[in-house]
Amino acid sequence: MKISLILTFNLSLLYAKKMSGSMLKNIWLPYTQMQTCNNPVIAENTKGSVITLQDGTELIDGIASWWTACHGYNHPYIANHVQQQLRKMPHIMFGGMVHKPAINLSAKLAELLPGDLNKVFFTESGSVAVEVAMKMAIQFWLNQNKMAKTKILSFYGGYHGDTMATMAVCDPEEGMHHLFKDVLPHQHIIALPTTKELQQQFSHFLENHHQETAAMLIEPLVQGAGGMLFHDPEILLFLRQQADHYNVLLIFDEIFTGLGRTGSLFSCNQADIVPDIITLSKALSGGTMALAATIARERIFSGFLSDKESHALMHGPTFMANPLACSCANASLDLFNQYDWKNNVKKIEAQLSEELSICRQLEVVKDVRVKGAIGVVELYKIENMNLLKKQLLQHKVWIRPFRNILYLTPSFTITTAELSQLTRAIYEVLIQL
Ligand SMILES: *Cc1c(COP(=O)(O)O)cnc(C)c1O
Repeated sequence: MKISLILTFNLSLLYAKKMSGSMLKNIWLPYTQMQTCNNPVIAENTKGSVITLQDGTELIDGIASWWTACHGYNHPYIANHVQQQLRKMPHIMFGGMVHKPAINLSAKLAELLPGDLNKVFFTESGSVAVEVAMKMAIQFWLNQNKMAKTKILSFYGGYHGDTMATMAVCDPEEGMHHLFKDVLPHQHIIALPTTKELQQQFSHFLENHHQETAAMLIEPLVQGAGGMLFHDPEILLFLRQQADHYNVLLIFDEIFTGLGRTGSLFSCNQADIVPDIITLSKALSGGTMALAATIARERIFSGFLSDKESHALMHGPTFMANPLACSCANASLDLFNQYDWKNNVKKIEAQLSEELSICRQLEVVKDVRVKGAIGVVELYKIENMNLLKKQLLQHKVWIRPFRNILYLTPSFTITTAELSQLTRAIYEVLIQL
């Protein structure tokens, strides 16, 4: 009893001491076991593809802040736009009132997106944009008195967000949310139809379940945070056909793949099809402010037009369509017309393919794959994640491995030398494992 008391006392003293001088006293970090968390580095400023830490260390950034900063950090053109808007009107509610930054942005998105993806609903995060897409799809059918069509069909390997509703459509095992699986609503999660056999299974499943299925939801071409898995455009074509055949809506979550990342402005361009609803976020504001959008086709929007108030879309985040965020996005979309980003992505793709391929020879490496400005080195297993992260930092690069994956999603403006420093760091760290 006494001993345990002393022990507890000493432990808590130790703990207090460790934390008292710590910057982590009041911070709860994402996806982090705070008990063993090493003090995170402190970012002081950013420019292009360089992050400067408080102690003056300069890191080459390999992931563009979860691939948001597609044109590099602190782009002067975006900064200029947001400063002008800041002086005029940083925020205004979007209920019963609209503003120019949102009007311009929705028009630009409608013009850039394929087909009649014309109706833009703004939110402030990717997860919420996906929730709105699911809600839209379900209510689209409810408004037609199809009360049974309430399920969402999604795929193994997928990632669509961290909120309760989006967790339920992530990969149930590999995803970060298996812990909650008994709490979440049950959705249909099945294998991506990548082979003839799987396509038959897929059709068979829909044959039996289309009456209760509102929509299928997929990250087209690249399943990102679920494991950086690639698939071919033909699969998207197949899904479009199935969706039409079985009267199920098709939602593309392009929060990761949209806005240039895979080599085309949107990934659906590569399959030459138009989904019924698309979600965008991450790079939408050029990595400057939180912004997301759920964009629907005319037919979906029309499904909400009615004499009945209750047929309206019942959703409205407080900070939706924030004018500062919209002006960032307007500037970021302008930038896609101001330099040859497509060629940059092509060059990044070639350089990643060439420089990462050497990792294939390493025993710890299971696969190396590259698509657009996405480079992936998949290991069999990462034994000591904290050590790996520390070693990457020692190489003066900012790369955040997860599970068994090291990936690069740099800005489209990264230099050849900067990208080489990133690929070299990965190789040098892995060769020591
Ligand atoms: C990041 C991401 C989300 C979630 O976005 P948050 O802004 O983090 O809520 C959803 N879907 C995909 C494909 C993503 O990459």
